[in-house]
Formats: sequence, C-alpha cells, structure tokens
Amino acid sequence: MDIIHLLPDSVANQIAAGEVIQRPASCIKELVENSLDAGATRIQVIIKDAGRTLVQVIDNGKGMSETDARMAFERHATSKIKEAADLFSLRTMGFRGEALASICAVAQVEVLTRRDEDEIGTVLEIAGSSVIRQEAIQCPVGTNIKVKNLFYNVPVRRKFLKTDQTELRNILTDFYRIVLVYPKVQFTLVSQDEILMELPAGTEKQRIEAIFGKSARRVYTEQLVNIQSDTELVSIRGFIGKPENAGKNAQQYFFVNGRYMRHPYFHKAVLTAYSGMIQGDIMPSYFIYFDINPEAIDVNIHPTKTEIKFADEQMVFQILLATVREALGKFNIVPSIDFDTAGKIEMPVSGQNLTTTPPHITASTSYNPFKNQGNSNVTNWQSLYQPIETKDLHAQKVQTESPTQQPLFEEEFWHDDPQQLASKYIYMLSSRGLMFVDQHRAHVCVLYDMYTRQINLKNAVSQQLLFPEVLDVTPDELEHVKSIIDVLHLVGYDIEQLDKTSFSISGIPPQMDSSQAMQALRHLITEVDSSTLKENWIQKLALTLANDAAIPYGKTMIQKEMNELIDHLFALNSYLWTPDGKRVIFTLTEEELRKNFA
Ligand code: ADP
Ligand code: MG
Repeated sequence: MDIIHLLPDSVANQIAAGEVIQRPASCIKELVENSLDAGATRIQVIIKDAGRTLVQVIDNGKGMSETDARMAFERHATSKIKEAADLFSLRTMGFRGEALASICAVAQVEVLTRRDEDEIGTVLEIAGSSVIRQEAIQCPVGTNIKVKNLFYNVPVRRKFLKTDQTELRNILTDFYRIVLVYPKVQFTLVSQDEILMELPAGTEKQRIEAIFGKSARRVYTEQLVNIQSDTELVSIRGFIGKPENAGKNAQQYFFVNGRYMRHPYFHKAVLTAYSGMIQGDIMPSYFIYFDINPEAIDVNIHPTKTEIKFADEQMVFQILLATVREALGKFNIVPSIDFDTAGKIEMPVSGQNLTTTPPHITASTSYNPFKNQGNSNVTNWQSLYQPIETKDLHAQKVQTESPTQQPLFEEEFWHDDPQQLASKYIYMLSSRGLMFVDQHRAHVCVLYDMYTRQINLKNAVSQQLLFPEVLDVTPDELEHVKSIIDVLHLVGYDIEQLDKTSFSISGIPPQMDSSQAMQALRHLITEVDSSTLKENWIQKLALTLANDAAIPYGKTMIQKEMNELIDHLFALNSYLWTPDGKRVIFTLTEEELRKNFA
C-alpha cells in the first residue's frame, strides 16, 4: 500500500501559517502591508482583545475584482511577482502570496472589496481555508478585511498567545515600524472601540512627533538632528537624537527601501559616531532611512525576518558612520563653556534657534582705548554702565528670543588678549579704559541664562554619570525630596529613590561636575519648598544651579577659557550685574587714572 499522500490544503496551510502568522501583530502587519501595496492613502486598523477576537483593516486602496478576491486567498496567489527575476526589482512589501492564505487557514475571515471601475463590490467569507460565502454587495472602493478569532482552530497556538498587554505591545511595535515609513498615509488604530492612535498624513518628522511626542513632556523632534548623504551606492537620510537626550528607552529604527530592518552592524556604526558623547548604558535615538538599489540587498528574505543583507556592508558602514559624525559635528559647534571636559559629555545648549551666538569681535592692535573719550559712541557706552534700577530677579527677564546684539561691541571692545588677575578677575582693554570682569559672576550670568532657557523649555538636559552618586537623607528630607522630585528632574537631575534613607543620582544638570551637582542638589533641597514654587521659581532654581556650577575664585583659567567666557558674557542681553544684583564688570577709566596720578 502506498503510504505517501498529499496533505489536504487546509492542513498544509495551517502549517505554513505558523511561519507567517505567529500572533495578532503579524496578522496586522501583513494586512496593512497589503493595503499599502494597494496604494491606500487612508488605513484604519481596528482590534478587539489585542487582536485575539478581531483584527480589521479598512483601506481606500485599489480593491479587488470578484475573481481576484477569491484568488487572493489561495496559496502563492499574488499579483506582485510573476517570475523569480522580478524578486530583485521588487519594492512592494509582500511578494510571496502567502499571507492571506495563511490567515484564512487559522481564522474566520470576511472581506468586502470593490474596485473603482466596478459598480458593485464583493463579499467573501472564509473559515479554515473553506469559502463559506461569496456574493455581490454594495461597499465603498477599497478593501475591508475582518479577521475573527485568530487560531480558533489551532488551540495550541491560541494558548501560545501572551497577555493582552504583551500582544498589544507587539502590535504597536510592528505598527510603528510600518507607519514611520509611510508618513503620507493616514493611519488610525482603534482598540476596544477607542482611538489609540490617530496619525494624520504629513512629513516623516511630523509622524515621529505624532507617535513619540505624545508621551514626552516636550516637543520630541526638537531632540533630533537631521542627517543626509547621497552617494552612488546608497542614500541615507533621517534623524538622530542629540547626545544629551540619549537615554534608557531610545527609539532606534533603520529602514531600507521603505521596509524596517534590524542591522546590528550598522547599529554599531551609529554608536561609534557617538563615542565620547554618551556614556554608560544609555543609547541615542535614531530614525535612519536607507535608499539603495534593490540589487544591492537581499530582498528575498523570510517575511517575519527583519535582518537584511547588504552586498557592500562595509562601505555602507563607513558612509553611515561619516554621515552621523558629520551631523553631530555640525551640531556640536554650538558654543559651550566646559572647563572640565574630562569625563563629561559635550553639552550643547538645547534648542538651537535659541542659542546665543557670541558676537564677532574684531581686534585692532592700533586701537587707542582712550582716543574716543567724549564722542557720541562713548556716551552711548556709558549709559550701559548706569546701575540697573531693579537688580532683583524680576529685572532679569527669561530670554525666549535670541538676544539683540548691540553693534557697538564690534568696534568698542578690544579684548584680544584678556588676562587673569589674582585667579579672580579677567581684565582687558575696552574703549573706556581697563575693564575688569569677575570670573565667577560672569560665569553665573552665562549659566543662569542657559539654565533658565532649559527649564523654561521643559527640556530637561542631563549628563549621565558613569558612577551614580548617592544622596543620604533624613526621614524629614525624604518626603521633601519626593515632593520636589519633578522639579529636580526638570533641572536635569536623574534621581531615583534607593531606599528609606537615600536616593541615587545617575544624571546631573549640564555644565557642572558631580561634586558641584551634589552641592547644588543640597541647596535646592533646602531652598525649594512649596512657597518657592510660586513666583520666579524658574529664575530661583536657575540661579542656585548657576551659583554652584560657576567657575570658582582661585581657579586659574587658560586663554581659551577666558575668551570663551567673555564672548558668552557679552552675547547675553544683560551682563553688567548678576541676576541677584552683584556687579560683574568694573571699568577703570582714564579719568580715575588721572585722579590717581594727580
Ligand atoms: P502578497 O501580498 O505576498 O502578494 P497576500 O496573500 O498578502 O500576498 O495577498 C495576495 C494578493 O491579494 C495580493 O497580491 C493582492 O493582489 C491582493 N490583495 C491583498 N490585500 C489587498 C488589498 N488590501 N487591496 C487590494 N488587493 C489586495
Ligand atoms: Mg501581502
């Protein structure tokens, strides 16, 4: 007796289905990809019980004819590939003609579909690979597929599904990977009759914002920098996270020719570009889109695999590394005074358009600072030295616009070579005489400006510590610290409670070292209470941080540090007095000299 026989189609399909459809997420992925391949511009995904009971995808794509609708559910039925050679030029998502056949083998499926040229559409019902009903029906152009009771006939697989929460997470993971590549398509995700996600058509950046901006307390895409490079081999574009926004739950996406891919080797290229800018186990976010001739990649991969092989991986690695490096380099030219760079993250001030650019100062060695005494420019100058009436915090408006630069600077200052005196003052010639700058107070002004902007933008910037610090607290302090922890996060402290007597600090505000940060933290804890948080609290916090982080007296500064400090100081709107009213600049005029020589 012959023992070999063909498996009934239904059984073969069930086995094959296990490969393509492992969970509700993969079902959604296949259906949405079909909708995209059908040219849909609006796609609605509806799920019940994390897809277990229902997965429905409604699109406004090109629809199917009556015959095609029936054919679509046969194995290896596809309109997307005719011969093996086509595989290499494929840019559509599906091409194996297996998805629908697999889905209908393990679920109850109902399809409504109509093409634009047909007056009447088709409804088709299939369960366990058998067609139950097919008839004409009135329906809109496009396709509407309902997949009910996934794995209803494969109890083992049904049991294999995880909790709704986990399945939903899987659905979102797959969903993001698709919608991030199709920003021009409008997507809606409905779960348990509630809209979970509404993604209007827009740009890639808007799509990223629509997805990840919702949970962030700030504009998510402001944390990203554009990258772009076009070479003959590959074109790379997208967005990478600013180093200071690197964190524990970074979003990392590679796409190639409109398809999500995992690529550990290219991931390494990105990380290499960031080396020295981020530390510890934090990661930068990236959304990187590769475009490459399909012949240079292996497209004939398993539908559930996300690894893709490139013919010239090493070359692409180098191009990617250079592209990311360049973008980070451009970004890093934002001025930052960092006197103790060792072990620190380069910390460019966030919010690029708000960054103060130091004024360009022209040096002239033949310039006589006393020559212009009495002319109109100088009277103008003197007005700057009038004591500011309100010296308290109110006087220092938080800057939200880039400061107006008085053109005066260009000709009136001459500070090519500032010098340090007594490790406390910086002096240089100005048009009015010999100008002395208090180094600590000057830095307070600069840092105060930076911190207020940062807090104002709710853009918590934090430098991660390689070795977290521990803050010991008394029982009283414990409650207090807990009550102001949001504020501490806002100014850049990455602080978490360890136990009943301590907190761990794994990130600190920028531009300070860990001992300064701990000292500032102590000050904040004593100073910040519910009353502080009422008025001018941003200014008060910023001032506390600035006071603790500013260069101390007694610190010897090198030329470059002094130049930078002076440049930054004069770029501020207000630099004659500290925010709490202490003098920053004093000028010894010719007149005073004359008096002393009399
Ligand atoms: P593949 O996508 O690999 O071709 P599928 O089993 O996913 O295989 O789909 C089979 C065929 O059914 C597709 O090639 C396409 O012609 C048709 N089809 C599936 N979904 C849709 C849809 N939403 N709109 C129009 N046609 C569709
Ligand atoms: Mg498909």
